[in-house]
Amino acid sequence: MKAMMLTGIRQMEMKEIPEPQLINKNDVKIRMSVVGICGSDIHYYTMGQIGSQIVEYPFTVGHEGAGVVVEVGSEVERVSPGDSVAIEPAMPCWKCDQCLSGRHHTCRKLRFLGCPGQAEGCLMEYIVMPEQSCFPLKGRLTTDHGSISEPLAIGVYSVKKSGGVKMKKIGILGYGPIGMSVMHAATAEGADTFFVTDKINRRLAIAENSGATLTGNPLNEDIAEKLYNKEAPGLDVVFECCGQQEAMDQAIEILKPGGKLIVVGIPEFDNWIVNVEKTRRKEISLQFIRRQVDCVEPALSLMEKGTINVENMITHRFHFSQTREAFDLVADYSDGVMKAMIDFV
Ligand SMILES: [Zn+2]
Ligand SMILES: [Zn+2]
Repeated sequence: MKAMMLTGIRQMEMKEIPEPQLINKNDVKIRMSVVGICGSDIHYYTMGQIGSQIVEYPFTVGHEGAGVVVEVGSEVERVSPGDSVAIEPAMPCWKCDQCLSGRHHTCRKLRFLGCPGQAEGCLMEYIVMPEQSCFPLKGRLTTDHGSISEPLAIGVYSVKKSGGVKMKKIGILGYGPIGMSVMHAATAEGADTFFVTDKINRRLAIAENSGATLTGNPLNEDIAEKLYNKEAPGLDVVFECCGQQEAMDQAIEILKPGGKLIVVGIPEFDNWIVNVEKTRRKEISLQFIRRQVDCVEPALSLMEKGTINVENMITHRFHFSQTREAFDLVADYSDGVMKAMIDFV
């Protein structure tokens, strides 16, 4: 079968590798239909690492996948051959302290698709996953929804970790697919005011269409000033969704005393700078987000009910053979790209 493998910084090649086989009784073999490109895939493509997770070439990334089941192990109950499934990329051990306390996203022995040292990604024609990672796509849900359920689940989880946003004034700093996922999840929960910032005006226009009440571009306006002109007391919850120091600084600035700062973005640097005086005097709560746990099903059900319409997240499509063009497009933020999808057919 074919696998699209990273072979160096900003380099990838289509390679021929053996098809994976079922090993465990709960294994499911899936023929990939679609894979969404994630910001983290791009970090591996352009930098060869995220923090201490370093790529050893050749390596396949990709973890926002959906496909069709082609073969199942003898104990699999949840899915059958022919079913379309969303793929949860995390494969926890289900035995460690973290797994036993319901935190299987921080499993001590976690294997995650497309994460160096853990598991190859799903930019290949077939993969084998444990059945716990397979979520059947019901009703109106397509494999696109299945793929989008991965970033959307992070939005749903981030909102959950914020302690709830119903009727609250919230900010979303960085409106890529994750910022957008937070927006959709917060809208579904009934958040009141949305202040959205991004450096790309086209993204701000999309945010306005999706219900942002105020937007700002930090390249040409003072974010805090803009917010306080409209919302004098400041915001209840701010989601940092771009991994930029200046966004962290702005978040602290625009939160009201007692506000919550939810840090979802993945920075390219090693240390955040958090202003002591402002965070302390305002008694800001800081919550970091590590992917998500148990939020794939809620994300799928929001899409199935039509509460969340994510079609406008997908802006570009490429065939599997054109994966490199897709990665370059996303890496360079070209052509107003939000989410680029890789199609296998
Ligand atoms: Zn992702
Ligand atoms: Zn575990």
